[in-house]
Amino acid sequence: MSQAILAVKNLVRHFGSVRAVDDISFSLQAGQVVGFIGANGAGKTTTMRLLTTLDVPDSGEILYNGQDIVAHPREAKGRIGWMPDGFDPPDHTTVHDYLDFFARAHGLCGSPRVTEVERILQFCGLQELRVRYVNKLSKGQTQRLSLARTLIGNPDLLVMDEPAAGLDPAARLEFKQLVRTLQQQGKTIFISSHILSELAEMCDSLIFMHQGRIIYSGSCQELSQLQNRGIVYLLRPTPATLQHTLAHLQQNPDWQHATPLPDGTIQATFTGATEAELPAALRRLCQENDLLELVRHQLNLEESFVTLLLEQHEQQISL
Ligand code: ATP
Repeated sequence: MSQAILAVKNLVRHFGSVRAVDDISFSLQAGQVVGFIGANGAGKTTTMRLLTTLDVPDSGEILYNGQDIVAHPREAKGRIGWMPDGFDPPDHTTVHDYLDFFARAHGLCGSPRVTEVERILQFCGLQELRVRYVNKLSKGQTQRLSLARTLIGNPDLLVMDEPAAGLDPAARLEFKQLVRTLQQQGKTIFISSHILSELAEMCDSLIFMHQGRIIYSGSCQELSQLQNRGIVYLLRPTPATLQHTLAHLQQNPDWQHATPLPDGTIQATFTGATEAELPAALRRLCQENDLLELVRHQLNLEESFVTLLLEQHEQQISL
């Protein structure tokens, strides 16, 4: 049974009137890869900066292996690796010298430093680029260098902010393989993105953030069960009757979350108590609307996220 390497309790961080992190609690189990998902401005980077001691919370607790990192940042710093979403490469510095500099900054000297830099160059596939200037690397190579820097000192927990953003499919695959290998080595990985499908393949569990709050936390399988709660249909009315169909769905208790999509279709969730009621509901829908197409639809992760947000929005309106 794995134990929580990191426990976050009632964490709050605001900037003026913006509650960037609004009373969140979660934990990371040792050896897990956990995805941290949210739209731009959801509060992911602010949370990650708090976890890596780059910022301090207004209130709440962050425990690393049971120890409060706000009170004892120095101890935690060495064990938590931070990979920021931006990288500002210095001029006239080679890949080797860049990593050597950070190894020195970690307090490594002599042969342990040489060994550590060589280990990381090899792990990240950077040996052949060791004399290349860091500001001449491709995006994928730059991300591998950023990961290499994060691995100096062999941290147990890696916190990565949007590491796969902007990578082409081949570089993204390479990156995923590195993440898998790090997990096999026993590391705990907390990785953010606003692209769900990117994370779902490599994560054991997911945490969704929206406007500073956690709106979902669970395994990828639980999420797919959640998305199966409703039976979702895509309807294509004739363009002239789109508004009529939308109004029909919004006023009809058989359906909820009726949402027009940019391609002229409408997505709606069947809300009947049992699936046996579905044929009659579909018949009524077809009789009372001018539909060109009606297909049952399996939500992907991105769509599930949007559906969750819609449900939350509707609940707020009905309060
Ligand atoms: P993105 O995916 O765009 O990076 P995010 O989920 O990482 O977004 P944050 O960068 O954590 O979101 O920002 C959360 C909110 O806090 C935003 O409204 C942002 O404008 C605000 N914010 C973050 N840092 C600061 C700061 N230093 N000063 C003022 N507001 C800030």
